[in-house]
Amino acid sequence: MKYRTLGKSGIKVPALGFGCMRFPLVSGRKNSKRRCAVDIPEAVRMMHYAFEHGVNYFDSAWGYHMGWSEPVLGKALAGLPRDKVMVTTKSPVWLAKKPGDFRRLLSTQLRRLHTGYLDFYLLHALNAKSFERVRQLGVLDFLESAMREGRIRHTGFSFHDGPAAFKPIVDAYNWTTCQIQYNLVDTHHQAGQAGLRHAAKKGLGVIVMEPLRGGDLAGRIAPGIKALWDEYPGRRTPAEWALRWLWHQPEVSMVLSGMSTMQQVKDNIRYAGRSRIGALSKDELALASRVQRAYRKLRGIPCTGCAYCMPCPAGVAIPRNFSLYNDWCMFPGSDQARLEYRTWMDAANRASACKECGQCVPKCPQQLAIPELLKKVQAALARPSP
Ligand code: SF4
Ligand code: SF4
Repeated sequence: MKYRTLGKSGIKVPALGFGCMRFPLVSGRKNSKRRCAVDIPEAVRMMHYAFEHGVNYFDSAWGYHMGWSEPVLGKALAGLPRDKVMVTTKSPVWLAKKPGDFRRLLSTQLRRLHTGYLDFYLLHALNAKSFERVRQLGVLDFLESAMREGRIRHTGFSFHDGPAAFKPIVDAYNWTTCQIQYNLVDTHHQAGQAGLRHAAKKGLGVIVMEPLRGGDLAGRIAPGIKALWDEYPGRRTPAEWALRWLWHQPEVSMVLSGMSTMQQVKDNIRYAGRSRIGALSKDELALASRVQRAYRKLRGIPCTGCAYCMPCPAGVAIPRNFSLYNDWCMFPGSDQARLEYRTWMDAANRASACKECGQCVPKCPQQLAIPELLKKVQAALARPSP
């Protein structure tokens, strides 16, 4: 395994972290609040194999696998030397209604994980609105006191909002780390490349999640993209290309992968073992750029994300809606864009909130018929995939 430095903290972390949100499931079962569908022996075997091969960072969250991820990780930890493992979980900030709730939730999570402390505790899925709310509830004081008590060692947050919301959160506190969705395609989406660079410059260790877009960049390859990758003489899988592209960048401290099979664990460990900052040659980078351009050509709305149309008086996040719609066009059959639209995006920011006032239209240099296109977005993304 190759190790990298987590921002200014100086902590050495593996190039590959184990994300605990896609454990293998028992065939035919679905997780519910009452019933765990995770194939626990296999999940534990995969985590132990990863640890034996240098992956000593495990990332969970309250809600993963309907609440079963933390207990399953806890079972794996029981067979590992706790002082050699870095354990991360995330505070479900949406459940905190009063200041004391943060402490109560953390206690439950420590119990579920069978550990007395967390190496990293992140505020989960922050956006501009949720951060403001939990800040008012005193979450930053809570983090300070939990660190003084030794229940958590380092703080951070994971992020799901548009680019404009990212910088104020980074700048609001002395975080050790942040987790962002970033990959070959999402360079201007959510925190984006600008956010990655800003956080790294501020000294945060940036951990990348969804490096393969939930499998979109590995398995569900759009027609024509695979052929482009295959132009490279030394054949690599699209997954390896996507991971290598991330590891090439000095601002990326770690790439988290939610692995579902032992084969994926083995493959990713092999790729991480070959990783290095600046490893891609000029020709390889040029090929990656061609692939990015090919993905962009598949977009359905020619929005550049310039945001000249903003702010919308009704609160619609116009560029973000178009960006999600374009994702949906690029990855037919993938539920990622719909999931983000329906789950992570505030209802007030969705296309459905458009009042058709028309104020945005003359401001758009691309002359897009924004209200009409927002209807298209709503029609495509509001329903779950069949
Ligand atoms: S037309 Fe819709 S999106 Fe445009 S400014 Fe009016 S409410 Fe906002
Ligand atoms: S002004 Fe037009 S191109 Fe720019 S973000 Fe808004 S819709 Fe997209």
